[in-house]
Amino acid sequence: MPELPEVEITKRGVAQHFEGQRLLKCTVREPRLRWPVQNTVLLCEGQVLVRVARRSKYMVMEFGPHALVVHLGMSGSMRIVEHGTAWEKHDHIEWQFDNKLLRYNDPRRFGSVEYAQALPGWQQTYPRFGRLGPEPFDPQFTPAALFEATRGKKVSIKALLLGGEAVVGVGNIYACEALFRSRIRPGKAAGRISRLQAHALHAAVVAVLGEAIERGGSTLRNFQAIDGELGHFQLHCDVYGREGQRCHRCGAVVKRRVMNQRSTFYCPGCQL
Ligand code: ZN
Repeated sequence: MPELPEVEITKRGVAQHFEGQRLLKCTVREPRLRWPVQNTVLLCEGQVLVRVARRSKYMVMEFGPHALVVHLGMSGSMRIVEHGTAWEKHDHIEWQFDNKLLRYNDPRRFGSVEYAQALPGWQQTYPRFGRLGPEPFDPQFTPAALFEATRGKKVSIKALLLGGEAVVGVGNIYACEALFRSRIRPGKAAGRISRLQAHALHAAVVAVLGEAIERGGSTLRNFQAIDGELGHFQLHCDVYGREGQRCHRCGAVVKRRVMNQRSTFYCPGCQL
């Protein structure tokens, strides 16, 4: 499943190739995505792609007064191909620019491409962005803000991270790794972590996501193959997927537990 780092890399690739270019034509071959693709997406034709941005796991393509909000769902990916390239199975939407084509491919069709009117400040009131917490790299996301977000919360700290209200973009693997780095037990009630632990966790979240983006950036030397299926860019994992192996830090055996239907890996020796 494409996570924040993959979406960020996709965004950078699309921006690098198409920002400042005019959209010549948009072709919707299959409108039955998670939500039906509306005809309004065609309003972007003839407009210049002014800016490509990201909000949580949404990529936003701004064409002057129009915007497209793209979510890669479970299996979506964007590819940049030359004009005349044959369609591939599950290519659902194509944006034709002067130099190249951008194609949205999604075998399971849980992704979405939606139109939004890009009035000034539209992102603040856009319904899909309404309940999202701060971005991990935003100045708003501080150790104090994270600590504050945990107060009075009975859910586990891992569930709080995955929930996206304290901070967006921390998927299952990244949550496990950030909690390992900050030595916090995933099942610990969020409201019971200390201020010091919140500081450590904040630093770990920023570092883990930053490293994944960096690895993604170096993995994809060119953006010919922007691909959500590349997985987690071979992020070096200390606990994720290491059940039964020794912890690098303390030597205890890494455990796996299912929490909220998600595999959770942690070290019982050094995560408290
Ligand atoms: Zn350990």
